[in-house]
Amino acid sequence: MYQSHIFIPTRSTPATDEPSKNGKLLQQAGFVDKLHAGVYSWLPLGLRVLNRVSAIVREELNQHGAVEILMPALQPKSLWDETGRWEKLKEIMYQWEDGSRHHVGLASTHEEVIVDLMRRADLTYRDIPQSMYQFQWKFRNEPRAKSGVLRGREFLMKDQYSFHASAEDLATYYTGMQAVYLNIYKRLGLDAHVVEASGGTFTKRHSHEFQVFNPAGEDRLLRCEKGDYIQNTELGTPTVCPTCGGTMVEEKSIEVGNIFNFGDYYGTTMRCTFTDQLGKRQPLFVASYGIGITRLVGTIAEVLADEKGLVWPSNVAPFYGHALLVGKVDDALRKRAEAFEASMPENILLDDRDVSPGYKLKDADLIGIPFRIIFSARQGEHVEVTERATGTTEVLTVDQARAKLSAL
Ligand code: ATP
Ligand code: MG
Repeated sequence: MYQSHIFIPTRSTPATDEPSKNGKLLQQAGFVDKLHAGVYSWLPLGLRVLNRVSAIVREELNQHGAVEILMPALQPKSLWDETGRWEKLKEIMYQWEDGSRHHVGLASTHEEVIVDLMRRADLTYRDIPQSMYQFQWKFRNEPRAKSGVLRGREFLMKDQYSFHASAEDLATYYTGMQAVYLNIYKRLGLDAHVVEASGGTFTKRHSHEFQVFNPAGEDRLLRCEKGDYIQNTELGTPTVCPTCGGTMVEEKSIEVGNIFNFGDYYGTTMRCTFTDQLGKRQPLFVASYGIGITRLVGTIAEVLADEKGLVWPSNVAPFYGHALLVGKVDDALRKRAEAFEASMPENILLDDRDVSPGYKLKDADLIGIPFRIIFSARQGEHVEVTERATGTTEVLTVDQARAKLSAL
């Protein structure tokens, strides 16, 4: 893709109205644009990263047997009244009365909608278990939307719901999902830990959070200095590690996922049942599984960025290679660079703009594509390839450079 054709509004200085590092950098590098607090446009580069993160999550979930759906964001109050959550979540949920006197709200989560869907399906034991997920924008009136895309008032979540005949069947699937989640984070280049936490709006049961230690996080965890035990501060404060006796230290972390075992809560409260082998109606056992997709993009930015700008791992980078045409550009040089771009147009961004080399280099560092490939008359038939993360530079033939990107 040609840089002159794609909208990348980089800025020479960081956004002044953004206190967070991810918010500052993602805006300065032209990935997102803030409309108002906690609400962002995802520009071409940002959307490419968001889609690549979603694709990894989708691939892992499909492999685990979950199936994708899409549910409405505009939801009726009547459904939320069944669990009392219309009232309970009124501070955070956008709720209003429409022109026809219907009370509606924007989805902050989707348990009520999917449980209603499943109870109307008249399920039998042959139809379960079921596990369905969606990528859907959630709306929450977050009181402190100061963390860039880590905490949006409008944000993309992968939310998933599984339905089971028994607590045991649910427990097995729930444990399997923990492994799926850890694998997803690993593929995204993040070191995530499973941590037990409190159960959410109603359940006394614990939930499990997936946490990435980072100073930008809003959660506080106690971590054993020896690294074999982690606990959320909301569940109490041990000073010594219960497993090895080591000292516990408090650290900030980002919650990148949260899963909840609701047991038969929804099955009984919303009368979501199935017919068992003996022909009796029994409550379904329900769990939900969330991952903040936009938050993940912010987390990768926070964790990997350096003083020059963003640094994307190749798995989620908007492009693999950033080709820069610099210095005096004659026809032959331009043709070589264009042929390079044409060989992998989806994975190479070619900076063909009529601006100075210094300007191009600065933008390339800020944008953070894994490899920078310089086409200049000085290099003759060769190109200079620099890895963004390490700064390592090699002089290669164009074919060698292409092979390097193809291997990613
Ligand atoms: P938090 O404790 O950070 O407010 P939560 O516990 O309310 O999050 P869930 O309702 O469990 O979050 O949502 C599932 C996932 O969605 C979270 O683990 C997080 O990764 C992401 N998420 C939650 N709220 C936001 C938000 N305001 N902006 C971006 N991502 C969010
Ligand atoms: Mg939480």
